[in-house]
Amino acid sequence: MKVVFCSSEVVPFAKTGGLADVCGSLPLALEKIGIEVAIVMPGYSCVGKSGYSVEQVTENVSRAKIGNNIQVHFIEHEGYFGREGLYGDTSGDYPDNLDRFGFYCDRTLRLLKQIDFQPDIIHCHDWQSALIPVYIKEKYKDDAFYLKTKTIMTVHNLAFQGVFPKVQYPKLDVEGSFVAQSFEFYDQLNLLKAGIVYSDKVTTVSPQYAKEIQTKQFGCGLEGVLGERYDEVTGILNGLDHDIWNPKTDGFIAEKYSAEDFGDAKLTNKMQLQKELYLDVRDDVPLLGFVGRLSHQKGLDLIIETLDDLVKMDIQMVFLGLGDEQYQKKLKEAAALYSDNIAVCLDFNEPLGHQIYAGSDLFLMPSQFEPCGLSQMISLYYGTIPVVYKTGGLADTVKSFGPMNKDGNGFVFTNYSSASFLKVIQKAIKVFRNEKEFDHLRKNVFRCDFSWEKSARIYQEIYHNVEKQ
Ligand code: ADP
Repeated sequence: MKVVFCSSEVVPFAKTGGLADVCGSLPLALEKIGIEVAIVMPGYSCVGKSGYSVEQVTENVSRAKIGNNIQVHFIEHEGYFGREGLYGDTSGDYPDNLDRFGFYCDRTLRLLKQIDFQPDIIHCHDWQSALIPVYIKEKYKDDAFYLKTKTIMTVHNLAFQGVFPKVQYPKLDVEGSFVAQSFEFYDQLNLLKAGIVYSDKVTTVSPQYAKEIQTKQFGCGLEGVLGERYDEVTGILNGLDHDIWNPKTDGFIAEKYSAEDFGDAKLTNKMQLQKELYLDVRDDVPLLGFVGRLSHQKGLDLIIETLDDLVKMDIQMVFLGLGDEQYQKKLKEAAALYSDNIAVCLDFNEPLGHQIYAGSDLFLMPSQFEPCGLSQMISLYYGTIPVVYKTGGLADTVKSFGPMNKDGNGFVFTNYSSASFLKVIQKAIKVFRNEKEFDHLRKNVFRCDFSWEKSARIYQEIYHNVEKQ
């Protein structure tokens, strides 16, 4: 079976978040179970910095290889992709994103014909590749090359839909009232909506999120469209690529460790992190880590509202992230005010990310919504206890630890308020200060398994079912 992955970001070539991790590691897991996968993504300028050898195929297409034999094709266009950011800069999204990703989708379908890679499935990820299902059924409907090709649309985060002014519709180069209606969204154009309508199957990245996005609260205006395809919306939990995320082999951390033998190494990593970020080097103080986009989604409001109370508890906090100006500013101010307790790094820094997962005692992830979330899974795999809000993939992967549930693997709050967040952290710190209990909890955490193998099998089954449709 031949599958093409279409994604705007793929590790190790370009990454702003979990989408890149998924689209870099799921193909490897699929290849291992015998599926022939190719990847097509935009040829951003950062691709050349990946350390991978990239060869020129044609004037505007280059190529690299990952896994055993997965060809990653880069659609090049200096004007569109030769920029610093993937989607925008500090002043916001690039105004020509429709042109950029429309070009990418169009060129992808032309490229596959050119290189004669005839896919059974084109697996599209998020709005940037959502035009492909539309093009397959409209522009290419009579093309023998794509006659049997089916499309799958995976929604990694419904908050990003690719919405553009309606006047740009002619740029899409598709006609007809049904197609126009598929893009229609409150008098604007919505690329993800059309991708959902046109694809042969819709998936998302956790079972809980699959349910949530069909409700008004989480559906971001698309709950109706998704609800119409109720039986076809499947939630499959993402996995972790253990070649990248593995404390046994992680070259970024001070001391490697395993689930069976972690005691001293966890502490060494913690002390190294404290040293590096100019915090007091102490083993008795709970160290709370955060790695992620600084956005409303990730619960930054709750964190900022509770900072004053948190520092009173004799704790340390480490933040690594980039994002909204307002949060960057507030975190910086907090780090200046509470320099003994808070360290902030406003950067995208892969090594430091690994060091925070390894060196923290607790990992903060109070996301207001979370399609799947990789950070809590990484933290669990590194023996660092996640503190999460019960939503989406967080609800699927983290279970509350407490007197009633000694099998739990983290701390979960169910009422989205700063008071509840504070309360659950107090609870977590109480357990941290009880060595026997914390040790028990850590052992639970190390038992969690989020490898890709299981999820890859589910995708394989979905591909087979869609192929038969
Ligand atoms: P998202 O909603 O951003 O996709 P996920 O939890 O699914 O959130 O994935 C986030 C991924 O990006 C994780 O691998 C996390 O470690 C990484 N990440 C996010 N921000 C940063 C940063 N500033 N520096 C390094 N890694 C980061």
